[in-house]
Amino acid sequence: MARDDFAPTVVAALGKRAAFICSNPNCRKLTIAPSSADAMKFLYIGAAAHITAASKNGPRYDLNMKAEDRAAITNGIFLCRSCADLIDKNRGIDFTADELRSWKTDHEEWVSANLNKTPGGVGGDGGGGTIIGDRGTVIGGKGGDGGTAGSGGKGGSGFIHGDDGIIIGGDGGNAGTADGRGGKGARSPMQRYGTPTDLWRFGSGGSGANHPEYDRRLTLLAQFRYEYVTTLPDHAPYVHAGIDVVPADWINQRLAECNELWRVEMGEFGYTLPPLTSEG
Ligand SMILES: [Zn+2]
Repeated sequence: MARDDFAPTVVAALGKRAAFICSNPNCRKLTIAPSSADAMKFLYIGAAAHITAASKNGPRYDLNMKAEDRAAITNGIFLCRSCADLIDKNRGIDFTADELRSWKTDHEEWVSANLNKTPGGVGGDGGGGTIIGDRGTVIGGKGGDGGTAGSGGKGGSGFIHGDDGIIIGGDGGNAGTADGRGGKGARSPMQRYGTPTDLWRFGSGGSGANHPEYDRRLTLLAQFRYEYVTTLPDHAPYVHAGIDVVPADWINQRLAECNELWRVEMGEFGYTLPPLTSEG
């Protein structure tokens, strides 16, 4: 049976355009690494997968597509091997061609937005210490800073086994989250338990600046909230009292009307903003 396979140049371009990172938004595994045994070799677990199948009866096969389009880069998506396998299970019914196309577009946008940036990561935890004797001071180290989409490390802490001592926890590292909000300072154990913090001076976490786009989005959300309470004054007291929030659907409708491409989702503690995929 004829298969409309990708040419090697198409396979290579798909991988590079995806930064050799799996395009499944729930996976994003890095698929390539150097071989430790051979300086000229590498380990590769990536795959150039067909969005609509290369041959008849394959997953998402599109009868109306021309053979040359089936083999074109527009019909390819870069995935890790396990995701390439996953999307073809049950003959592809669990993943539609449209869904895969949007994975590809979103992923390529995300890669573009991260060109020349530090990859996300979690900062290292600050050091801690233990006081074995009766007196002493432990000062925890500062947690490391996370990268572009990383989270800051935890501040250090310590234990006192003796009678007395001072523990000063280190600061948490700075972070920028995927939605662009600056990292929050980690609360100390004393703050978490509601104990006066001057007893043991645990340090507080460092904080990072918001991405300018995140600030712009906050301003828009605040403006919509104002519109909501002025156009629907009956709801205003509840919104002001924090009993109700402006419904996410209403916000999203206003975002659409303002030609904004992002949407909010209702999370456990309020709106969740989408990750920043581009500067605009
Ligand atoms: Zn994957």
